[in-house]
Amino acid sequence: MESFEVVVVGAGPAGAAAAIHAVEAGYEVLLLEAGPLGRDKTCGDGLTPRAVHQLERLGLAGEVTAHYVNHGLKLHGYGGDVTAPWPDSDYGRVGSAMPRTRFDELLARTAAARGATLWDNATASAPELADGRLSSLTVTVAGVEKQIRAQWVIVADGVRSTFGKQLGREWHRGEVYGIAARSYCDSPHDDEPWMHSHVELRGEDDEILPGYGWIFPLGDGTVNLGCGALSTDARPAKLNTKKLLHHYAAQQREEWGLGEPERVTSALLPMGGAVSNVAGANWMIIGDAAGGVNPLNGEGIDYGLEMAEHAVELIRAGYRDVTHAWPRLLRARYGEAFLLARTAARLLTYPQFLPAVGPLALRGPVGAKLMPAAARLMANLITDEDRDLMARLWRTAGRGVTAARGNTPLWS
Ligand SMILES: Cc1cc2nc3c(=O)[nH]c(=O)nc-3n(C[C@H](O)[C@H](O)[C@H](O)COP(=O)(O)OP(=O)(O)OC[C@H]3O[C@@H](n4cnc5c(N)ncnc54)[C@H](O)[C@@H]3O)c2cc1C
Repeated sequence: MESFEVVVVGAGPAGAAAAIHAVEAGYEVLLLEAGPLGRDKTCGDGLTPRAVHQLERLGLAGEVTAHYVNHGLKLHGYGGDVTAPWPDSDYGRVGSAMPRTRFDELLARTAAARGATLWDNATASAPELADGRLSSLTVTVAGVEKQIRAQWVIVADGVRSTFGKQLGREWHRGEVYGIAARSYCDSPHDDEPWMHSHVELRGEDDEILPGYGWIFPLGDGTVNLGCGALSTDARPAKLNTKKLLHHYAAQQREEWGLGEPERVTSALLPMGGAVSNVAGANWMIIGDAAGGVNPLNGEGIDYGLEMAEHAVELIRAGYRDVTHAWPRLLRARYGEAFLLARTAARLLTYPQFLPAVGPLALRGPVGAKLMPAAARLMANLITDEDRDLMARLWRTAGRGVTAARGNTPLWS
């Protein structure tokens, strides 16, 4: 039986980053990916400054930003347009975007180049527990099963988290989650340095549809065009996201010179840490599998990259058992912001909410002042060091919501 100090299940951004951090910390690492290298992942491909900052820590920011850089968000709808540049923060002011086929392969290949053993087309299953510790797992490569022994296992197996489920991971869909579709369209505006979001979508009879659309230029002759909506089990978004995507593309075709949407796919987004059983004695769940997606803007790459670094920090810190330490760290680092965002996002699942506040938020002098601040909150670009009024209000509101919603599932 082969043996590794750290086995990472899943080579998306979270898993590949965990492998890089672990190998840099001197561990013998096996990175497993069920798909082929360069596999696709349904995503908007957008990278906020928070993600670029984390790429810097991996020594990879330059490879990504050399292709394309953006300066912030442009929000459209309800008769208004607001430009919200990335705020001046510790994360920097550089955003980017890169198709996930390329982005994820870059990270996985970097892990291998720095010394991790990388197996693609290799599916992990059947975790064996002995004395509460995950002692071994089965890896199936080309139909052949291998038994692997592990001292530590980092589970980064994405939204479905089939391996995580075998360890008892549970996703609470009574809390807000996202449904979304994306596509790639040719566009002569592929180098436009802003991420665009349309918060007012209208149907064929000019009726307001639940949901929002995005166009994220990629600097390679194409844009990532997609749409999505927030949902809960109690108020499921009644939306065919792929159909809506084609409708949205038709509406934007002239302005963006769009080609036909290609490679249209849809997926769910687990959000705001609404996941429980995320750790055992020697295993931790990170990334989408741990609900590491911001409910207010759907970004999860940055949180996956950050969680990867935190998980390796816990291993390095010499813990023998992280069953409680891992969820405690997640709650301390993200709990207040995610709970507040989840609570605010819940409002967006009421179909009447956006049409009521949209015109005020996006039009005129109020919108021009309000929305850049809102964009900073939406992208969670406030750090613990920020002392300005907005940062203080955000933190106070976070503490209030945390106190009021004490029993809500949050990496419990
Ligand atoms: C439509 C849409 C748009 C989005 N837009 C953005 C955006 O613009 N910006 C942003 O930051 N986030 C965005 N997100 C969220 C983002 O895609 C995720 O948060 C991110 O991919 C999470 O990374 P991850 O590594 O946790 O999981 P994943 O990227 O899903 O990677 C998990 C990997 O694990 C592998 N795997 C699964 N099971 C096993 C197994 N048993 N053995 C081995 N390997 C396994 C899978 O093949 C996969 O490669 C979007 C999501 C959606 C659905």
